[in-house]
Amino acid sequence: RKQVGKVTTSCKSFDELLGGGMETQAIVELYGEFGCGKTQVAHQLAVNIQLPVEMGGLNGSVIIIDTENTFRPERIDQMVKGLPPAPDGRIWETEDFLKNINVARAFNSNHQILLAESAMDLAEKVKDSERPVRLLIVDSVTAHFRAEYVGRGTLADRQQKLNKHLHDLMRFGDLNNALILVTNQVMSKPDTFFGDPTKPVGGHVLGHTSTFRLYLRKSKGEKRIARLVDSPNLPDGEAVFSVTTDGLKD
Ligand code: ATP
Ligand code: MG
Repeated sequence: RKQVGKVTTSCKSFDELLGGGMETQAIVELYGEFGCGKTQVAHQLAVNIQLPVEMGGLNGSVIIIDTENTFRPERIDQMVKGLPPAPDGRIWETEDFLKNINVARAFNSNHQILLAESAMDLAEKVKDSERPVRLLIVDSVTAHFRAEYVGRGTLADRQQKLNKHLHDLMRFGDLNNALILVTNQVMSKPDTFFGDPTKPVGGHVLGHTSTFRLYLRKSKGEKRIARLVDSPNLPDGEAVFSVTTDGLKD
C-alpha cells in the first residue's frame, strides 16, 4: 500500500476537519441540497490536486465524469486567478491547469459505468509520467441512477449497479493512489418511499463504500458548513468555509 496523500481544500478549518485535507485511496462523498457547493468544492479540488506538495497539492492530473453538464472552464480560470502565489514566483496560467483536467460527459448510468472503466485505461497510460491521475471526480454519482430507476421494484437492481460502480471507483483510488470525490444530492420530498428527506440518495450502499461523508449546507451569504459524518478514524465535527469568486476560502 502506497503512502496516503492529502490534498488541501484551500480552507484551514475544512482541512482540519478532514485531518489535514482530502485523502487519496479514499472515496469522499459530498452530499447536500442543490446549490450547497458540491460542484464548487469539486472544481477547487481539480485545481488544488495539481499544485506542488508544499502548497497542499499532489502534482497530479484529474479525470471528471460529469453527469449533469456542470463543469465550467471559466470557473477553473477564476479559481486559478484566486490561488496564492507560487513559492518559486512563477505565474499560474489557467491553460496549464485546464490541460490536466480530463472531462467526460456521462449521458446515462451505463455510460457512467463505462467511463469509470476507461478512466482506468487513461490513468494507466500516464501512471509513470510527471502528472499521474491523482483525482477522479464523479459529479453527480447518483443522479442518473436515481432518474432511471424509479419505483420500488427497481431499487435492488439500482443498488446492485451502483454498488459495482462504487467498487470500480474504489479500485481506481487504490491502484492510482488517487482521491475519489463523488457528489450526491439529498432526497427530495417526492422520494418519500426512501424515507427521511434529509438523507443522501443511495442509502446504505453508498454509505458503506464512502470513506468520508461530508454533508454540506448553506449558511449566511457565501458561507457554507461542512459536517463530517461517520468517519472511521476522525471525530465527527463541522467546518465553516466560504465559496467566493476566487474559489473556496476560510
Ligand atoms: P447541485 O445539487 O444543483 O449540483 P451544488 O451543490 O453542486 O448543487 P454548486 O453548483 O456547487 O451547488 O453551488 C452553486 C453556488 O456556488 C451558487 O449558488 C453560488 O453561491 C456559488 N458560486 C458559483 N459560482 C460562483 C462564482 N463564480 N463566484 C462566487 N460564487 C459562486
Ligand atoms: Mg452540482
